[in-house]
Amino acid sequence: MAQVQLYDTTLRDGAQREGISFSVTDKLDIVRRLDELGIHFIEGGWPGSNPKDIEFFNRVRKISLHNAILVAFGSTRRPKARAANDANLRAMVDAGVKAVTIVGKSSALQVSQVLETTLDENISMIADSIRYLKAKGLTVFFDAEHFFDGYKANADYARRCLAAAAEAGADCLVLCDTNGGAMPNDITIAVEAAKAITSVPLGIHTHNDAELAIANTLAAVSAGVTQVQGTINGYGERCGNANLCSIIPALKLKMGIDCVTDAQLGRLTEVAHYVSEVANLIPDPFSPYVGFSAFSHKGGLHVSAVAKWENSYQHVDPAMVGNQPRVLVSELSGKGNIIYKARELGISLPEEGKEAKNILERIKWLESHGFQYENAEASFEVLLRRAQPGYQSPFELVDFMVVVEARRRQPTRRSPEETLSEAMIKVKVGTEIMHTAAEGNGPVNALDQALRKALLQFYPSLAQVKLVDYKVRILEESGGTGSQVRVLIESSDGVNEWRTVGSSANIIEASWMALVDSLEYWLLKEKASGES
Ligand SMILES: [Zn+2]
Repeated sequence: MAQVQLYDTTLRDGAQREGISFSVTDKLDIVRRLDELGIHFIEGGWPGSNPKDIEFFNRVRKISLHNAILVAFGSTRRPKARAANDANLRAMVDAGVKAVTIVGKSSALQVSQVLETTLDENISMIADSIRYLKAKGLTVFFDAEHFFDGYKANADYARRCLAAAAEAGADCLVLCDTNGGAMPNDITIAVEAAKAITSVPLGIHTHNDAELAIANTLAAVSAGVTQVQGTINGYGERCGNANLCSIIPALKLKMGIDCVTDAQLGRLTEVAHYVSEVANLIPDPFSPYVGFSAFSHKGGLHVSAVAKWENSYQHVDPAMVGNQPRVLVSELSGKGNIIYKARELGISLPEEGKEAKNILERIKWLESHGFQYENAEASFEVLLRRAQPGYQSPFELVDFMVVVEARRRQPTRRSPEETLSEAMIKVKVGTEIMHTAAEGNGPVNALDQALRKALLQFYPSLAQVKLVDYKVRILEESGGTGSQVRVLIESSDGVNEWRTVGSSANIIEASWMALVDSLEYWLLKEKASGES
């Protein structure tokens, strides 16, 4: 198979996704990561459209890139104007890059309905603009907008647009499924037609409106396209662009096209998560290849198979894309999951014998009472450790009391009201019993404060642990006992994050359970790292 060049447009097309707004610094950081990933072309933005992108191009020049070539984006000159006088084209030249991508119309309908000019003038706009940029010594990629729709409606005109771009000196003709509605077979037919009229290399740019962006991209590659455009995590307008995080491993691992090195592919998951972090979007756990759950095994049958033969339920080795397998613990688990997880945590559980079976029984019971361990692995670990013979808990609750009091600030006015929460707790550490009280902005916060107050005297390093997220879910009402509440707490010590769970008909008790698991988990880790 021919070599394929990867072209990333996360910073331009990707940023069109609802909710994404990259600062210049964000964009520079992403450029570095994309370069490390082995992307060949990075489209930085549209300098003619906004000052932020001009600033980006001024600053990106100072970064030395190892693999990638920066690309500036823009559109063909305006109708009935001269390329040399076009501010947008000049901005592309002024961006100081070696390569540019210029978008032009290749659909006759779009030319008459949207551009409102003649078909011939559009052809001149394409040719003039490309000639102008080529004369400046630039590598020029031509994005043939709406090519596939245009080809279906008026094949002759779509072909004329490509021929004009090729004749004007374009280095690559990128066929765009701008509206994202093409089917893989449409792509194959149109790519074949393009190949018949030109020997200039072809590219593919697809959108995901029919959830076919990746399939269409791969169909185009099979038909002979050599430049692939897409975005990290498939970010992009509407339903997104073609997702490079799936395309890259598909090309390399499935189609035998060595578009990145093994080491670069191994950074894929990290880069995917990094970009979502910068975009301020939660990484989708179910993303193929890079998702947290992409290689997770829940069913007992699968887990026992995976324990015997790793590849029995995975299509590729997760390590190749920088991901890792995960075994989930739930009531669907078999004994194998428990033993596998315990081994992962460095706890030895005999394959035969009652221990694993007892823990599984306990988990099944707890899950029927609203606990869930799939997203609360720290609680699961604490549960396993507590079941170990001779386990000594770093602290034990003797009792607690929480008072919530509502006061009216001004008796004459209905609001605002002030709510005060206070918690009193008694905990035992070793042989000592500590009795503390604390206030908080809510009952859980007050409990958290009081517990820390007691424990800090024994474990001062606990001060680094922070509660970063607190989620409450009301579970289905069961047998007249009232709603069961599940609390999930996410904690962090600035380096690591972990999640714990509690469940009860009482929200305070459920929160307490999750809170205790969180602190106990961290203290166990801390103790283990001190010993090793
Ligand atoms: Zn696009």
